[in-house]
Amino acid sequence: MRIEKEILRWFEIRRVRPSGSRYNAPVTNTLRRLPAVHRLLESPKLKDALGRWGRTALLEACREALDDARRSIGAGDPPSAAELEEIILAKVLAAEAEAYSAVINATGVLLHTNLGRAPMPTALPQSLHGYLALEYDVRAGRRGQRLAPLREKIARVCKAESAVMVNNNAASLLLILTALTQGRDVIVSRSQLIEIGGSFRLPAVMEAAGCRLVEVGCTNRTHLHDYQAAIGENTAALLVAHQSNFRIVGFTANPSTAELAALAHENGLPLIVDQGSGCLHDLRRWGLPHEETVTDLLDAGSDIVCFSGDKLLGGPQAGIIVGSEAWVMPLGAHPLYRALRPDKTALVLMDRTLRAHEAGRLTDIPLYAMLETSIDSLKRRTGRIGRRLRAQDIPAQGRSTRSTLGGGTTPDETMPGYGLEIAGGQALLDALRQGMPPIIGRMEEDRVVLDLRTVFPEQDGALIEGILAAQR
Ligand SMILES: *Cc1c(COP(=O)(O)O)cnc(C)c1O
Repeated sequence: MRIEKEILRWFEIRRVRPSGSRYNAPVTNTLRRLPAVHRLLESPKLKDALGRWGRTALLEACREALDDARRSIGAGDPPSAAELEEIILAKVLAAEAEAYSAVINATGVLLHTNLGRAPMPTALPQSLHGYLALEYDVRAGRRGQRLAPLREKIARVCKAESAVMVNNNAASLLLILTALTQGRDVIVSRSQLIEIGGSFRLPAVMEAAGCRLVEVGCTNRTHLHDYQAAIGENTAALLVAHQSNFRIVGFTANPSTAELAALAHENGLPLIVDQGSGCLHDLRRWGLPHEETVTDLLDAGSDIVCFSGDKLLGGPQAGIIVGSEAWVMPLGAHPLYRALRPDKTALVLMDRTLRAHEAGRLTDIPLYAMLETSIDSLKRRTGRIGRRLRAQDIPAQGRSTRSTLGGGTTPDETMPGYGLEIAGGQALLDALRQGMPPIIGRMEEDRVVLDLRTVFPEQDGALIEGILAAQR
């Protein structure tokens, strides 16, 4: 085996006396103090590791650890056998670790874009454990259409005529604009040329789709007559993009959806709305500001509305396009659709999410379960956790917090939350993040704040252990 040979060769080098250089002599002596690989492998811990992770992984870790030791010679004492053992074990563990580790989200941001936006239910549907009728009509016993079983359900939940699902909302816009507006003009207000985290920029997507952006109005005010004046022979559509992650307040104006739809239809054009969040319910129910729902936008005359699957819908990453049959149906038949279509995991999880929305079983969706959690229950959990921590001399206190929806929705609005406050500053915040599982909190005036609204109750035990470990 190559690695084994390499390690043996490295140890061969140790036995060769370098040619008398006064710099080499102490280095060689230090190298000599490093244990041999076969010695290392005799330790019970590494023997156990050999059984668990196999020879290749362990020898690779040995090689790296010894390489590191060799490189750092001269910078201090070489590692002892026990230290080498720990280094090697850490390396094997790191190589075996999942690429995307589970974390405890104690930030209070419900749709945290860096932490996977909407959390998924823990139990996977049976259909994801093995084979499933993805493109198979079970009753007829022949090939079926991948999207057909879900298309109607999406349309029903959004009260739309037709629907298409793609990989994410950026893909929705790319598909809509490519299929319907390529080579022609699309009119957008200057207040809506948005950038969303993760390098989504509306003007760039429009360029990629091959349509021409025609900007109208001013940053704070755009009027119906601005759109009217811009409509010409080459116009393909009016496009409205939701100001997801920012607000323009003060002296502002924008025509209503109904006014824009009427203007578009007078000119034989579609009104396309990038709604973004996928809001289906009245957010005032959870103490959040009112936002037009997807259905409101369709009722007001929008021809096509698109949004993300993993924001307020609470589902998997996806882009959903709904609207009138005449505009939406052809999108599923466009060649680009094949490149943007969702995978089976997203389709199955979306089906489950939509069924929960349709049946009004919102708390089956983790996002809505968190929104529905009462302050009283957060206080009770905080009390229990706080008592356990104080019993170990950790000065943790309960305190009110402000949770946010995040994910580019309701940017300036927060909702009441509750959680823990622990003295310890940045050092504690870092130690929590580097624990297993990582605990992601936030700092407020030198204190670590852990918002329990985004921590699932079943994670409370791990949270306590993580805090204890970080304080050690
Ligand atoms: C979030 C968002 C997008 C991007 O959606 P992805 O699903 O992340 O691709 C586009 N437009 C608006 C208005 C958004 O809020």
